Amino acid sequence: MIDASGPQVHIDLRAASAHLVQVEIRLRPRQQTLRLALPAWTPGSYLIRDYVRQLEGLQLEQAGRSLPLRRMDVAAWQAELPDQEPLTLRYRLLAPELTVRTSHLDADHGFLCLAAVVLAVEGERWQPHHLSLALPDGWQAFLTLPQEAGGGWTARDFDQLIDTPIEVGPHGAHRFAVGEVGHRWVSWGVTLAGVDPMEGDPDLLRDVQRVCHACCRLMGERSPAADDYLFILHLTDNGYGGLEHDRSSVLQYGRRRLLKPDGRRKLLQLVAHEYLHQWNVRRLRPAELTPYAYDRPTIVPTLWFAEGVTSYLDQFLPLTAGCSSEAELFEDLGMELSRYRQSPGRAVQSLVESAEEAWVKLYKADAYAISSQVSYYLKGAVLALVLDLHLRRHGSGLPAVLRLLWQRFGRVGRGYRQSDLLDAFCGVAADLRQLLPQWLHGHEDPDLEGYLADVGMVLKPQLAAEPWLGWQVEAAAGGGVQLQRVLRAGPAEQAGLMVGDELVGLAGWRLQRPDDLAPVLTAQSDAAVLPLVYARDGRLRQTELRHESPRVERWLLEADAGAAPAAVERRRQWLALEVA
Ligand SMILES: [Zn+2]
Repeated sequence: MIDASGPQVHIDLRAASAHLVQVEIRLRPRQQTLRLALPAWTPGSYLIRDYVRQLEGLQLEQAGRSLPLRRMDVAAWQAELPDQEPLTLRYRLLAPELTVRTSHLDADHGFLCLAAVVLAVEGERWQPHHLSLALPDGWQAFLTLPQEAGGGWTARDFDQLIDTPIEVGPHGAHRFAVGEVGHRWVSWGVTLAGVDPMEGDPDLLRDVQRVCHACCRLMGERSPAADDYLFILHLTDNGYGGLEHDRSSVLQYGRRRLLKPDGRRKLLQLVAHEYLHQWNVRRLRPAELTPYAYDRPTIVPTLWFAEGVTSYLDQFLPLTAGCSSEAELFEDLGMELSRYRQSPGRAVQSLVESAEEAWVKLYKADAYAISSQVSYYLKGAVLALVLDLHLRRHGSGLPAVLRLLWQRFGRVGRGYRQSDLLDAFCGVAADLRQLLPQWLHGHEDPDLEGYLADVGMVLKPQLAAEPWLGWQVEAAAGGGVQLQRVLRAGPAEQAGLMVGDELVGLAGWRLQRPDDLAPVLTAQSDAAVLPLVYARDGRLRQTELRHESPRVERWLLEADAGAAPAAVERRRQWLALEVA
């Protein structure tokens, strides 16, 4: 049966072992020409993914007759319709990719990223979309669309439909509430002990709930912005990733990572990050992404705010939730600041350039990226720290500005632009009118030590044990030592080396594994120049390597034992995300 209120999407997942998702879309046409397109990307992950590469067997039928479809673009089709009788579209999609923004179907479970699955029909975008699923026996579906009395689900429109990730399988969900809102947590994949992660760690669900509460407190709310919430966790061998949606988060995490000393804390930070996105980026959304253009890249200069501020705050939220310690936060912030200071690309690419070039640089980072670009997550988080501490000099703080922006834009569904962010920050600290554009468009680092001193913190540099060569090495696949990274203007680059070169011998000594390097470098530390034999494209070559004295390899962030009482009180407020 077809009603006039929008497409009916039926997804059949019973060919699970073949990884084939079978889709049928029925609709009553509104126009003489039918135009169809599959999204090329999914919001939150700024890369053209060409989901159409998994689509096959597309057919269009009207009243039992097959109609020809003309391909207009790689992922777009059109057909001239003889009449307005109901239409049926059928196609299949291969679903072999387990990431947070692709679909995966096998005999154990299924995960659907609907942007990669559902064809958009021109003229139907803002109509309700009805969804039904056919599942293998014993499986159930987890998703956050309102359920229909007669079975199936209804999305308000196409955007809400493809913003709904779906997990299906024989597994069950854990339930908890945050404020008035029911939450479900569904995990697929087991820990190294062979159990569901929530069963392996009975306190984990409680801590997830505490982190969700901490996010609401940060936003000045009792309940989340969503009226229903689903966490989907895929526990894989070594994965890491997350993708935010209006009413769900999809997380991928490594079971080995979970066993590391910081593994549980980093998972809670990932939970905090994606959950906080239901405000910052999903509902408090850049104007450029309102509405989404699913067929092409969209330049968003404010991604530094969406991702940087979220990445900065996600580190505090397990602490304010009572799930981690101040010392652990100092360790995490110290690591982040060290990573930032060891990114030579920050002298090349500005923060706004990083955001605007996300589609072609951050999401396509290669071995040279560290020298030519800086992540807007990383530099954005460092800027968020600087802004937080700067605003605190003016009696406010980043949490207050985030809440103000939420009230001014997110709550009322208005998209914001860079100038709106600037206005919000300058409303608290007028001097940011000058400073913020410099930090956004320039390459100079803010005075981190000075800002940290305000809250009684110090950065302690740690020197590396070995001379600086401006390279990173790895074990080559077939044995030997290979250059993984060559930093711009460093000794390795000046010696003519490039990524992929195999290091064969240094100062007359054969190199067979990365560990062979350190003893030679230490023994030869007095020599100004070291002869190096290397191989490129099958040919042996020689060069001379001039090493430099050891450099700082990391900065430890520590509380200053001699800090004045006023700084100690500012530190307490800063760590609690409190604003005076
Ligand atoms: Zn994010």
